Amino acid sequence: MQINGTYKLFLDEISTFVSPKRIYTDELRRLAWGTDAGFYRLIPQIVIRSINEAEVARLLQVADKYELPVTFRAAGTSLSGQAISNSILIVAGKHWEKYKISDDYSQITLQPGIVGERVNQILKPYGVKFSPDPASVKYAMVGGIVMNNASGMNCGTHANSDRVMISARMIFPDGTILDTGDADSRKAFSEKKPEFIKEIQNIRDSILRNKELTERIRRKYSIKNVTGLNILPFIVFDDPFDIIAHLLVGSEGTLAFLSEITVKTEHDFPHKASAMLYFKD
Ligand SMILES: Cc1cc2nc3c(=O)[nH]c(=O)nc-3n(C[C@H](O)[C@H](O)[C@H](O)COP(=O)(O)OP(=O)(O)OC[C@H]3O[C@@H](n4cnc5c(N)ncnc54)[C@H](O)[C@@H]3O)c2cc1C
Repeated sequence: MQINGTYKLFLDEISTFVSPKRIYTDELRRLAWGTDAGFYRLIPQIVIRSINEAEVARLLQVADKYELPVTFRAAGTSLSGQAISNSILIVAGKHWEKYKISDDYSQITLQPGIVGERVNQILKPYGVKFSPDPASVKYAMVGGIVMNNASGMNCGTHANSDRVMISARMIFPDGTILDTGDADSRKAFSEKKPEFIKEIQNIRDSILRNKELTERIRRKYSIKNVTGLNILPFIVFDDPFDIIAHLLVGSEGTLAFLSEITVKTEHDFPHKASAMLYFKD
């Protein structure tokens, strides 16, 4: 297909730093990447298989310059069309599979392209697990699980991505990288974007001043609630960086690219059973 207009300018510019082997513009592959596990189809103009943070940061800067919408994609098992695009699709699966376990196995730092079940295979010898457990965990990747706040029967709301997240490393549309688990990165971000931090604090304070709203938010998130952006962090955390990190959970890639997440692991009971209990009330 002939790529025209602004997409051509975008393509020319990214071709100076992305290998042509990882840029797909042919009809067949665009069609193949135009579907996820949902009902919808959107054919992307350009698909890029990204390999690292520096590259994603530059891709976002160029897309921002030409005002072209970007969608991120992990395994593409989403059910509501959030992993497809009729514009630019940045895939972060293969090449994004690194991880690091803390010495006491209580935390794991993950890149977004590791499949959920693979994380559990890695953690199994230590008697711990990655708790978010959608039924798609055999295929879905960490980036997609976290950004959808996907959860299943075991993690409920007590151990979903929002509850187990410790910190996140992210890339904003202007290419700025923030690692909320790194003091230097937080300091650099505060200096570069003081108004951003101020705005987060303002929203937090205005929500907290409204007791009725605060109570409503607490109640709404005591059960599974992945509708819209996750606003629970505004009433749970005081630190604006914790709020920013937790806002990513369930944001479906609309706020930033998630390049790394550190989560608490959960004890993996060796013996398990299921039961159904009925209560009169
Ligand atoms: C058979 C099946 C069973 C399922 N069962 C459940 C279930 O029990 N519970 C449940 O909650 N859900 C369930 N789901 C849906 C579930 O939400 C998805 O399977 C999963 O979360 C998506 O992961 P993925 O790797 O495929 O991400 P994708 O579909 O590729 O992406 C998901 C979202 O995350 C964004 N994204 C991906 N990577 C990044 C990144 N690095 N940075 C920023 N944004 C990113 C995408 O733009 C998209 O909005 C099921 C789906 C299927 C097909």
